[in-house]
Parts: sequence; C-alpha cells; structure tokens
Amino acid sequence: MAKTNEFFVGLDIGGTTVKSVLVDSLGEQIGPLVEVRSMVKEGYEKTFAQLDDAIDQLAANAGTTRLSIGGIGLDVPAPSSHGVIWGRANLGDDWVGTDIQSKLSERTGKPVFMTNDGNAAAVGEYAMRKKHLGSLLLVAPGTGLGGGLVLPGGKCYEGANGMALEVGHISVPFLEDDGTLPDCTCGLKGCAEAWVSLVALRRRLRFELAKPEWANHPLQGDAPIEEKAFRLRDFCEQGDALAVKIFKQQGFILGYAIADLVRVFDPGLVIIGGGLAETSFRDQYMDWIMEGFKDRAWPVYLRSPIDPEKITTDFEWAIGGDAAAAIGMAYTAREMFA
Ligand SMILES: [Zn+2]
Repeated sequence: MAKTNEFFVGLDIGGTTVKSVLVDSLGEQIGPLVEVRSMVKEGYEKTFAQLDDAIDQLAANAGTTRLSIGGIGLDVPAPSSHGVIWGRANLGDDWVGTDIQSKLSERTGKPVFMTNDGNAAAVGEYAMRKKHLGSLLLVAPGTGLGGGLVLPGGKCYEGANGMALEVGHISVPFLEDDGTLPDCTCGLKGCAEAWVSLVALRRRLRFELAKPEWANHPLQGDAPIEEKAFRLRDFCEQGDALAVKIFKQQGFILGYAIADLVRVFDPGLVIIGGGLAETSFRDQYMDWIMEGFKDRAWPVYLRSPIDPEKITTDFEWAIGGDAAAAIGMAYTAREMFA
C-alpha cells in the first residue's frame, strides 16, 4: 500500500492551462509536467475537476495513487491572502472572496497552501538553483509585471496579509510623450507596470506609430494594436529601430524600478522572468536593465564597499520557464507538509 507523505503536488492555474508537477520527499521532480485545460472562467468547481484530473495523472505517472500524496501547493493568477482571492482576478466571478485553499483541501482530503503566481515562480527559481541558498527577487514582465521574494532557506515572503511584492505597482517618475503619467490597470498612475507589461507595449506602440518618423514602418496599417504589439518582439529580434527603441525604454525603466526594490530588500540575486528570457535579444535587454539600474542604484548595490571584487547584486534570467510556478508550489508543499 502507498505511504502517505511520499509525494507532493504543485498546481499552477493559468488562464489557458493548469500546469502541474509531482516531487518526492527529497524534492526531486518525478515524471513529466502534466498540463490540463484551464476552465477558470467557468468557476472554481469546474477548475477543481480539472485539478483532480491533473493529480490523478501525476500519481499514475509515478506508479502510485492519491493516497501517497502528502500535500498540495496551488498558485493563482490573482492577489490573495490566506487562500482567499481578494481582487483583480482574471478568473470567473465566483473565485473572488472564496476560501479556495480550504475548499480544495476539503475536496482532496490533503493540506493545501495557496499563493499568487509571482510568488510561486520565485520559489520555483529558488528550488531549481540548488546551490543558491540566499534570498532572491523575481521580477517577471508579462501581461502585467509580477514578482516575488524568496528568503534565505526558500521561504516565500508574502507579507503580514499576503499582499507583499506587488512589484508592478511601485511608482516610477517617467512621463508619456503627452506629458502625463500613464494609467495603470490597477487604477493608479505612473506604476512600473504601466511601462513594463504587454499593456504598456500597446500604448507605447500607439504613441510611436503616430510620429512622422515611423510613417513607413511595416507596423503601420489597420491591424488591431494588440496584434501589432504581439509582433513587436519578432521585430526587435530582427533589430528593427522602432521595436528596439520601445524595448530599450522598457528595459531601462524595469532596471530603474529594480534599483528601488534592491534598495529595500538587498536580495543579492535578481531573476528576470517572463517570456523575454526566451528571446534572442535578451543579452541586449539585460544591458538595458543594467543601464536603468545604474541610473538609480547606489554603487554599493553593484560592488561591495568593503571588497570591491565582490558583486553585491547578481542578475540572471529565469531558468524555470513555464514550469517554474508549478515547481515552486510542489517545493513549498513539501517544505510545509512533509
Ligand atoms: Zn498599478
């Protein structure tokens, strides 16, 4: 008969898929990543049925059953406190205000821990860097600008109310071409996310394409701005001047924002996540981040004031890709429930 507490599950709920992994009691991943369709728009009950499927597949791949699972880590693409989503959820209506953590625990009979996707990916990056024992800060530009902080030893810092590390909404003093602070999706103005996100790319591209200097640019035309912004990364890979200008500005502002985060947390290691890690211009993008960082960070956050040979803040690209959050949650479940 299967032993309990032998395996731990990580579930990463996204808008289109749920990614899941299984780790053993030593934290080693067992079997492949399992993906099932996300049904978040149809409510949490429908999603839970999908999670059941994923858990069964993970157990079958490991040649075991649910009985051997000691706990579950779950992350959601929304801010939450103590297992309850409290706002801005890009999910079905019934998610907000519901104690998802307890409901999933009741349904599965397993202890469950829930957090947001930025925290989960940060722990995943920590778990995958087996030689790194210090803290790390993850900053991940995507549709928005997410992030997470992992403390030495691997514990995610969530804050007293689970509301820490909303890194996308620190303010940056950059004005749009019309002289205003740009609107953020959160309702405020001048947030870092209003410059470093897919939403920001669309606005920037719209402003740029209205200028005479880009009158003959191939992105002129009637296509929707969402489609044009989506193609911007390919243009940047080919060295297109407009795309380079927009991404360069984005990278600079990201670095500038990171400087303030580093000044507060002094994490020692900053991981840049999100899809940019997979682009062919990522080295150039990292240079732009460093330009912004150096513009705002004191030199001690680059080199030790005592030992000038010692780098005080390392920057690395994420290594976990799409699987980082699920791995982070499996790791957390093992830490908490083993
Ligand atoms: Zn904001």
